[in-house]
Amino acid sequence: MADQSANLLGVDRLTRSFSVRTGFGGRNHHVVQALQSVSFDVATGSTVAIVGESGCGKSTLARCVTRLIEPDEGTIVFDGIDITHLSRGALRPLRRQMAIVFQDPYTSLDPRMSVGDIVAEPLMIAGQISSADRDKRVRELLGLVGLRAADSRRYPYEFSGGQRQRIAIARAISTRPRLLVCDEPVSALDVSIQAQILNLLADLKAELGLTMVIISHNLEVVRHLADKVLVMYLGVLVEIGPTTSVFGTPAHPYSAALGASMLSPVPRGDGSEQGSVPRISGEPPSPLEPPSGCRFHPRCPIAIARCATEVPEATEIEPGHLTRCHLP
Ligand code: SF4
Repeated sequence: MADQSANLLGVDRLTRSFSVRTGFGGRNHHVVQALQSVSFDVATGSTVAIVGESGCGKSTLARCVTRLIEPDEGTIVFDGIDITHLSRGALRPLRRQMAIVFQDPYTSLDPRMSVGDIVAEPLMIAGQISSADRDKRVRELLGLVGLRAADSRRYPYEFSGGQRQRIAIARAISTRPRLLVCDEPVSALDVSIQAQILNLLADLKAELGLTMVIISHNLEVVRHLADKVLVMYLGVLVEIGPTTSVFGTPAHPYSAALGASMLSPVPRGDGSEQGSVPRISGEPPSPLEPPSGCRFHPRCPIAIARCATEVPEATEIEPGHLTRCHLP
């Protein structure tokens, strides 16, 4: 399932599995299919969101496209270059053009390093830079993310979660990447801080001309930032299309359920409500034993007999809007 446009990133039939051992002493060996022939494109300058419940493969996908982990099959084309099998050395100059922001700013920053050293680290790895240029660039980057130049001498423990995510973003954009991948960039943050970080990402995208891939289970994040949405279920891309279409007129029952449950407020521990946790009927099946046919069929309210045996092909509902469902 792929679409065509002026693309910075093209992913074709990406497949990745993991070995898992269960039981006493790990005597049972299983193969988990984390990604099953996933294809999509990211147009230059656009923002694409990958959504789905925990364990659907979205973080594996983000790590595969940035070559942090290797796919088993398929191809990844970045800026017209097939990077799927590039050696580490050949990949290095391209790696500066792609960066990733991780979910948890409490664990993604080395507590022993000063903020200045953390932000400058990718620059130092990328190549020679004088200490004067390094300090100048760190000051620029801290300003871009709304921190003070003097913060470069402080340490991560001195900052709040939102400020730490700003530091992580400054580090990610230090090498002037063209592609920024954000893996649940606000889900570890207090709700009151989330909007500030989303606004910062939107501002940076416009100011730096970034192309972005955002992984999220939060519909507000997706609506705020994404031009296009990929919906994943148990390692399979089940729907892809413009954000307004996928959540306005979803073609796949899972997208419809995901959108509806993302919109219904979920009580939080403090008694307030938060509309960010997906609630679909039933639990996702174990990825160790995915259902036959359409993987969503045990939870699908409109399943028919063939859904249990036949894998649905991708169908184009309208230009750029595709789904895998026998009853789109
Ligand atoms: Fe539901 Fe069948 Fe469509 Fe799967 S293929 S989403 S089970 S109707």
